[in-house]
Amino acid sequence: MKFDLVICDAEVLDGTGAEAFRADVGISGGRIAQVGKLSRNQARDSISGEGRLVCPGFIDIHTHDDFNLPLNPLAHGKTRQGVTTVVTGNCGFSPAPVVPERLGLLREVCSFLDTGISYGWSSFGEYLHSLPASAVNIVPLVGHVTVRCGAMGVEERAPKPAELKVMQAMVAEAMEAGAHGLSTGLIYPPSCYGNTREITALAKVAAQYGGGYFTHMRDEGAGVLKSIDEAVSIGKGSGAYVQISHLKVTNPGNWGRAGELLRRIDRARAKGVAVTCDQYPYTAASTGMKTLLPQWVHEGGSDGLVARLKQVKSRAKIRRETLQLIKSGTARIGKWEDAVISDSPSNPESAGMNLAQLAAKEDKEPVDAMLDLLIADHAKTLGIYFCMDEQDVIEIMRHPAIAVGSDGIFLGIPGKPDPTMPHPRYFGTFPRVVGRYAREKSVLTLPEAVRKMTSLPADILRLPQRGRVAEGYAADLVLFDPAIIIDTATYQEPRRAPIGIDAVLVNGVPVLRGGRETDAAPGVVLRRGA
Ligand SMILES: [Zn+2]
Repeated sequence: MKFDLVICDAEVLDGTGAEAFRADVGISGGRIAQVGKLSRNQARDSISGEGRLVCPGFIDIHTHDDFNLPLNPLAHGKTRQGVTTVVTGNCGFSPAPVVPERLGLLREVCSFLDTGISYGWSSFGEYLHSLPASAVNIVPLVGHVTVRCGAMGVEERAPKPAELKVMQAMVAEAMEAGAHGLSTGLIYPPSCYGNTREITALAKVAAQYGGGYFTHMRDEGAGVLKSIDEAVSIGKGSGAYVQISHLKVTNPGNWGRAGELLRRIDRARAKGVAVTCDQYPYTAASTGMKTLLPQWVHEGGSDGLVARLKQVKSRAKIRRETLQLIKSGTARIGKWEDAVISDSPSNPESAGMNLAQLAAKEDKEPVDAMLDLLIADHAKTLGIYFCMDEQDVIEIMRHPAIAVGSDGIFLGIPGKPDPTMPHPRYFGTFPRVVGRYAREKSVLTLPEAVRKMTSLPADILRLPQRGRVAEGYAADLVLFDPAIIIDTATYQEPRRAPIGIDAVLVNGVPVLRGGRETDAAPGVVLRRGA
């Protein structure tokens, strides 16, 4: 037998952006062995590709799955979309390294993402070894929130030279262990307390290993151009390639500026700085609700924040400044109706309500309803924010250097009730780009949409032999019906599975076949340099 499996008579989209061609795809030993006219009787197993497209598996370049995969390793919400590889550790949040005496603080700053992972490791290497077999491949990043919290707690100040050295050593250890780069979340404490010089010094360590600098920028609203300039300067100063996370323009006052952003990025690219971006195909964002508050409030982690909210004088100041951030166009939302509760541990029935509705129910001002909810949830509250304009989303999507990343946050784990209302992007991102934006709206051609989910992210990440249908490449593949593929997850029913995807292979093993999960776990950690 020459092949373990052959996908017969499919149209092949190879992931490079080229037009589809008809071929069989032969797989052996987890790799694509041959693409062409192949004989079925040379194969142990076959899948008919009649009337279907086969393309490389989708690479979700922006996830927070490190806080979910350890407890939900089969990740059905991902495999059903055709995702075969996830990049973890984004926005500054990685579960490792852990400094034992600051583990409590780390849990607090990551709490809005956490599903109850064990943190039973200290180094990044130990953490990678502890990961269970999962359905998808994992590309890990090390996060600045985690590293800074471990080295100096949640404090609004520059690091002492010795603390910077500790952070650099942590990044080096993570890179040695196989991380692909450093991420920052410059709206999140304590990452937001780091200045450009500190981050450049840390990104330099990642660059020494060929890694990248991935950033959730300081400001995605009125100050977005300045934020892009900062990311570019960190790339220049460190030598790391730059990946701008979930590029967008937030707050109605800034809508229509997508073209300005893209020109700023093109200018840096023309000067030879390696800058690429990713995007999720929705007009709502999702993150911890505490991020609507001013940054000084977060010092000392959730304990510090809640104490300030309970104190009459500081609460009045927080209240005033929060309202001012919204009024001035600096906050991502322009009005309270646009902020929806996604997860509230203290008030699970509120999931799905917007802050104006909660305020009406509780007979309070919306700002007070939010502050009281943050106290009751110990700042873990997760929200969804309708803060973008679809025209901007479309303009950004058309740019050839923008890859697709879900940024999904899913707090559900098998066998446990899940009262949350997650953002549908965790469940629908990839089929939505293909079905809604390529087929229905013609924003992209189908080969281009697939390129943005496959060879583009593989090239950005310098992943060897992933992201293309070509001989010798890993057999991460998706088989779908281009006439019907689409997302069905909505804000009201976020867990609905997409339609039109028949089979998904990870390292040659089906994780979805005949439209059904197989519950196989063939994913591996793709360590940098391995
Ligand atoms: Zn982010």
